[in-house]
Amino acid sequence: MITKIRNVIENNSEFIILPHKSPDGDTIGSSVALERLLKNMNKKGYIVLNDEIPLNLHFLNCKVYTLEEFEKINLNIETVITLDSSDISRFENRVKLLENKTVVNIDHHITNMNYGDINYVFEASSVGEILFNIFTNLNYEIDEKIAEGLYVAISTDTGSFKYTNTTTDTFFAASKLRDKIDFEKVNTELYQNISYEDVILSNTVFETLKIYNEKVGIIYLTNEMIDELNLEVINTDGLVEKVRNINEVEVAIFIKEINENLFKVSLRSKYDFDVAKLAFKYSGGGHKKAAGCAIEGSLEEIIELFVNEIK
Ligand code: AMP
Ligand code: MN
Ligand code: MN
Repeated sequence: MITKIRNVIENNSEFIILPHKSPDGDTIGSSVALERLLKNMNKKGYIVLNDEIPLNLHFLNCKVYTLEEFEKINLNIETVITLDSSDISRFENRVKLLENKTVVNIDHHITNMNYGDINYVFEASSVGEILFNIFTNLNYEIDEKIAEGLYVAISTDTGSFKYTNTTTDTFFAASKLRDKIDFEKVNTELYQNISYEDVILSNTVFETLKIYNEKVGIIYLTNEMIDELNLEVINTDGLVEKVRNINEVEVAIFIKEINENLFKVSLRSKYDFDVAKLAFKYSGGGHKKAAGCAIEGSLEEIIELFVNEIK
């Protein structure tokens, strides 16, 4: 399997790199690391993404092309590497970049649909950890910039090494990367970099907190709430984890309005409850303890639906 990855990398000079929509530390950190690795081999990776990169990831200087910008330069690239994306809906309109190309799907979601020509899908904390293993096995040099991207990917997807996806292999990779990065800078940028507005927003979101059946904690955010605070760019990362932190909560849910009658649902669990199964039922996906989906309906209907499903 790894030979296939090596052949793809070594037999091509230009690549499209696709992170998933609503990007997070794993998909961006991995993209930056891969782009740099290719650059160090005198190759070129084009990261194509239309979404805003979260503030705490700006320090990675991830250079992205929007789909429109990329189409304008009109390159004839044959290979696409997708990172951290369990199904093609995660690319939205960028999905057309997969047509008539060799698609290498590198991912760690149990719900991955194996949509690639090469599907390098393994259970690991993060795609960052998978790339660390690929680069190490193929004897590719990991420089500071690559290490930074991979470390960010691993650190963010493991909740700073707290979640149960953190294995001894994860710690091994992290320990190798730790010495190559400016550890204080990376952690300050990642975790001590929340905007004032997002803290105020989180107050508003937590006013909606309700606990159902003593186990299911739900918070929500509507566009009206955002408008009332006069906010334009918002970041709600970490809020649903705070709900899961409540001692009695076993399943935490964050429902966020996309537009009228369409909501994004983020699910988190403790112990044995499998939220990936639940998200998959509603055309989403994820991991046993962290999953998500988008669902149509009113806020009240969605709350009722999930409370009943979980019962
Ligand atoms: P989030 O709640 O957005 O932080 O996502 C938690 C996990 O679920 C991540 O691993 C996501 O990749 C996955 N996930 C979230 N939304 C979706 C979706 N609509 N389809 C598939 N997977 C999703
Ligand atoms: Mn992700
Ligand atoms: Mn991930």
